[in-house]
Amino acid sequence: MKFVSTRGDTPATAIDDALIAGLAPDGGLYVPERIPAFANIPAVTTLADTAAQVLAPYFVESRLRDVLPALCARAYDFDAPLVAMRGAGDSLLELFHGPTAAFKDYAARFLAEALGGLRADDAPITTILVATSGDTGAAVAGAFHRRPGFEVVILYPDGRVSPRQAHGLECWGDNVRTFRVAGSFDDCQRMAKAALSDRDLRERMALTSANSISLGRLLPQVAYYAHTALRFHAQHGEAPDFEGLNLIVPTGNLGNAAAAFVAKRMGLPIGDIVLASNANDVLPRYFTGGDYAPEATKATLANAMDVGAPSNFERLRYWHEDDTALRASLSAHAVDDATIRATISTAAERHGIVPCPHTACGLHVLETLRAHGDTRPWTVVATAHPAKFDSIVEPLVGHAIEVPPALAVCLSRPAYGETLAADDALLRGRLLRL
Ligand SMILES: *Cc1c(COP(=O)(O)O)cnc(C)c1O
Repeated sequence: MKFVSTRGDTPATAIDDALIAGLAPDGGLYVPERIPAFANIPAVTTLADTAAQVLAPYFVESRLRDVLPALCARAYDFDAPLVAMRGAGDSLLELFHGPTAAFKDYAARFLAEALGGLRADDAPITTILVATSGDTGAAVAGAFHRRPGFEVVILYPDGRVSPRQAHGLECWGDNVRTFRVAGSFDDCQRMAKAALSDRDLRERMALTSANSISLGRLLPQVAYYAHTALRFHAQHGEAPDFEGLNLIVPTGNLGNAAAAFVAKRMGLPIGDIVLASNANDVLPRYFTGGDYAPEATKATLANAMDVGAPSNFERLRYWHEDDTALRASLSAHAVDDATIRATISTAAERHGIVPCPHTACGLHVLETLRAHGDTRPWTVVATAHPAKFDSIVEPLVGHAIEVPPALAVCLSRPAYGETLAADDALLRGRLLRL
């Protein structure tokens, strides 16, 4: 199994090289040359074991092939429970039980294990550069913190993340540098892309990314969808109207939803996949027939989804014959801030849960489907723990949200962030002076 670029201008590449590179040299995104499909639906086992099975076909030519099960056991060491919600068979897929309380922990931990396993002892230090709209940076920092041979540089938009998210980004120190950028997430992403495509810089330092453009982020996310779909199938697969696990995925850069799509293509029992966007509605406009028209980012309450140009769109387009096929395969809804607030306020009563603002977008999409007469069971993906967004959620629900233990550990550490202007050349200079 080799990997090619969505832009078609990169030779077929081995997985180990694609993982290390992050972005393909032609500026495109790495994709497997074909998506492997299971001949039979695998048996239900643990999350770590399903991860190893699902990832194995991609790693047949990897130096990590034989250690993949052990690596998955370390990376996927916290569960992804499927919790029943109030109402017609709906459930919540809680992906927030990791060290930084968002789903990004899974992929970040897998990537850290994989890059750590591929690294030669005498190799120069690898610098992982991450632009983050909130949760990726913390997950990557946590996964690589104090890992020998690695340095992490985080760029996040100053003032556009929740206070607890900011602390989660700044609480590491040691081999982690966190920059508060005076700009938007799009500025951070542009700066990271500029550095990563700077040949001269890359000759002087071993630089790679860990953004959702990175193959090492996409593939590990397939695992929790596979595991959930298998469990759901084991419980409901005998029902005559069984269509698979229907998913509503809160979406920003489309990495999480792209992983759900890959899981479905691999033949796992997944039904419909619906994207929930916030007021950054480039995907809802596209999926209802408009042009794909990236825009400047709008700041919303669901800040980790504040993306005006979803990077994984390029992968989804690559995997479909044309726009008609892509529009038939997914759909998308936009949810504005007033609706996010209203959804959080009423979620305990309507669904029996307290959501973070991102998860609230997904819940509202569920409510919209129900209002249009859809009676199928749906699973809403809970992308972060509500305690990470206490400043938004607590006033709306009227009580304190208990902080999960791992997040409490982050919050009790000192902060080490530095400021940086939104300037490509300044970042270049800082990287050379690390
Ligand atoms: C990153 C993130 C999202 C968006 O995920 P994408 O893979 O970028 O679409 C949604 N919710 C939370 C809490 C996130 O951290």
